[in-house]
Amino acid sequence: MSGSNNLKVFSSPERYVQGRNATHQLGNEMKKLAMKGPVVVVTTATPKKLLGEAWTTSLKDAGYEHTELLFGGTCTAAEAQRIADHAVTQNAKTLVAFGGGQIIDAVRAAVGLVGDGSVCEFVSCPTVASTDAPCSALCVMYHEDHSFHEYRFMCRHPTLVLVDTTAVAKSPVRMLVGGLGDALATYYEARTVHEAHADNFLGGKQTETAIALSKLCCDILLEDGPAAVESLYCQAVTPALERVVEANTLLSGLGFESGGLCVAHSVHNGLTSQKETATYTHGQKVAFGILTQLILEGRPREELDTVLEFNHKVGLPLVLSGLGVDVSSEKAVCEIAERSLAPGESAHNEPFEVTVDMMVDAIRAADQAGAKFLKEKEVSK
Ligand SMILES: [Zn+2]
Repeated sequence: MSGSNNLKVFSSPERYVQGRNATHQLGNEMKKLAMKGPVVVVTTATPKKLLGEAWTTSLKDAGYEHTELLFGGTCTAAEAQRIADHAVTQNAKTLVAFGGGQIIDAVRAAVGLVGDGSVCEFVSCPTVASTDAPCSALCVMYHEDHSFHEYRFMCRHPTLVLVDTTAVAKSPVRMLVGGLGDALATYYEARTVHEAHADNFLGGKQTETAIALSKLCCDILLEDGPAAVESLYCQAVTPALERVVEANTLLSGLGFESGGLCVAHSVHNGLTSQKETATYTHGQKVAFGILTQLILEGRPREELDTVLEFNHKVGLPLVLSGLGVDVSSEKAVCEIAERSLAPGESAHNEPFEVTVDMMVDAIRAADQAGAKFLKEKEVSK
């Protein structure tokens, strides 16, 4: 991405609300922002069962008319169009997404299809803390077969982001763990973009704010990540979980967009070229991407060890086989490397030219470092 000048740009949602039973405040929070109805809530069966009553009451009490639409399951161009068509039929002025990253991205894309964000506003209500989607203005679009399709940039951020931590505490552990991988990458990627004086996702240069938020995100995860994962096993909302939800959702969301992405996310996109990885979360793939990036950049060994230790503690992959890919398959590793270096990929934000050979070797060396780490853990048991 090339900015036309050296202006620093930082961007964010208008309001962020997080906490126990936050859904009960949805209508009130929308009212504070003078948002308009009718409202269309897009969701899936699980969030509806868990929170449907709460949002229905809250919207009604605040004087909003609302209808509901079930999400089709994958954030494709066709699905975004279907949601947009529905919104137009309902004359919706606000679209609310309750669910995971793909619902949020599909609804955001739909808002973009309806207008430029002034026709219809967007409320994002993540029920899992698994991706950077909730706070951003970016849509990650997929093909029907789950492979990566394209990024779409919206003019506007969500007007409101509302995170009910009671719902997150009941979400699958693997989703939170994926979020940890995605969020941990934020600092390592933003740091490289800073060093390279490259552009962030907003087509501008980094502010000090963006890099500071990324660092705070990383510090919280390393400190509280394992305890937050534990709290999910008993579905408890704890201070550690609250801090990690904020890191995964707000800090990581602002950090990646205003900080910029690099190799870790390109490796993620590369990994989606292998159909075996389709059942793994975004963050699980990004987590392996961090290891690849640190090796490619020749960072100190202790930094790699910190990430290996973290991945191991919280249950993120350390090796390619942890994502269903056979590292001995030259074809697979080559495809991943080639896809990760496609034109426009964030890997090109490195301050040096990255070749396919370099990427292949970094992937293989990351896998090797992960395998060695796991073997040593096994022996010391
Ligand atoms: Zn991500």
